[in-house]
Amino acid sequence: MKIFKFGGASIKDALGVKNVAHILQQEGASNCLLVISAMGKMTNAFENIVNSYVNNDQEKLTESIDFTSNFHLKIINNLFAENHVIYQKITVLFGQLVRFLTQNKSRNYDYLYDQIVSYGELLSTTIVSDYLNEIKIYNNWVDVREIIITDAIFRDASVNWGETEKRIKTKIDTSKITLVQGFIAGDLNGNTTTLGREGSDFTAGIFAFCLDAESLTIWKDVLGVLNADPREFKDTQLLEQISYEETIEMAFYGASVIHPKTIKPIQNKKIPLIVRSFKNLNSQGTKVTNEADMYPHIACYIVKKNQVLVSISSLDFSFIVEENISDIFKLFHKYQLKVNLIQNSAISFSVCVDNNLNHFDLFYNEIKNMYKVSFVKNVDLFTVRHFTENSLEGIYKLGTSLVSQINKNTAQIIIQKK
Ligand code: ADP
Ligand code: ASP
Ligand code: MG
Repeated sequence: MKIFKFGGASIKDALGVKNVAHILQQEGASNCLLVISAMGKMTNAFENIVNSYVNNDQEKLTESIDFTSNFHLKIINNLFAENHVIYQKITVLFGQLVRFLTQNKSRNYDYLYDQIVSYGELLSTTIVSDYLNEIKIYNNWVDVREIIITDAIFRDASVNWGETEKRIKTKIDTSKITLVQGFIAGDLNGNTTTLGREGSDFTAGIFAFCLDAESLTIWKDVLGVLNADPREFKDTQLLEQISYEETIEMAFYGASVIHPKTIKPIQNKKIPLIVRSFKNLNSQGTKVTNEADMYPHIACYIVKKNQVLVSISSLDFSFIVEENISDIFKLFHKYQLKVNLIQNSAISFSVCVDNNLNHFDLFYNEIKNMYKVSFVKNVDLFTVRHFTENSLEGIYKLGTSLVSQINKNTAQIIIQKK
């Protein structure tokens, strides 16, 4: 069994959906499980629905629902005949969403987020599944929320591996093509959860692990894993081969081409991961295995944006010791702030954290009563793996360097942009 994952960029329009079908025809899909994300940037569009709903802004809410609805309608208009059942299915899904918005009583933002944003994947998979069936690539659409089971930590749910593996093994018919939603899952109470932004790669990793897949292929708009994000850096190069460990390191430091949680499960079972371009079937892409450390062996650049550099010292000039550090980390955990770099001195403790869930202000309000805290928002954290002297120069030129940490393989520099 092979797992193929198609992300938002690959199905951003009707041509993209047709291209997915073309890839399946070329590569052979008979024993495939397909993991599909929301179309294009639809997850962001559904986030707008969440925000206007929570802010009680009726006008923006209608506007944002219309936007997502028109987006999908335009795609199906280009894929199906006028009287196709897909029109009804899409209407039903939007009907469910509107009913949820009308009947819901909860004010829990993260819960609402997952219940609403998940429609991106429900819509995309319904459309792609029906299109593939239409052109005789027969497939079973499966509701992944009944199969990948998580805890109820909305927006950042953790997988209940035992339950998930049991359900995947019993509910997936491996003799047929199965099509599931990435990113979304369900808790044991039947609520929808999500695995964190960009989590569809992880969904594919979960299926690969539980089904002992022969390979996992992630189809991207780039040739494969490059030595830097081409949106941020010039003259990037394709890494033809890399080890699981190197890929985990790169993803962990923020190389957003693969979700960091994807690799561990497939590494455990030595399942090869292939990252290929959906735009160029002639390129073999990147192969992630244990076979080679990294080929070619070159410096790799990663940038994490929207970071906050927090410096914490005690109110009474005493040292920051283990007990304080333990308290501070409890708060990072409580507010789901992901720590990306730590620098410790006798009287102060500096940490660079992600603020992608916008929980930093809540954290600050609590910690400021216990410690002296200063922070710089909106800094960039650059990581260079396998750096050389030359490779760091360009980064120092980008702004003021606030912290730098250099060890054998990895240099990390926090830059406040000019
Ligand atoms: P998906 O369609 O699966 O959601 P993403 O857009 O999330 O795909 O991921 C692909 C993008 O990741 C690329 O377009 C590229 O800009 C970015 N990227 C970041 N780091 C790297 C890297 N090291 N190699 C390749 N692409 C990278
Ligand atoms: N659609 C989700 C997102 O944009 C998950 C994914 O694409 O991986 O975050
Ligand atoms: Mg993505």
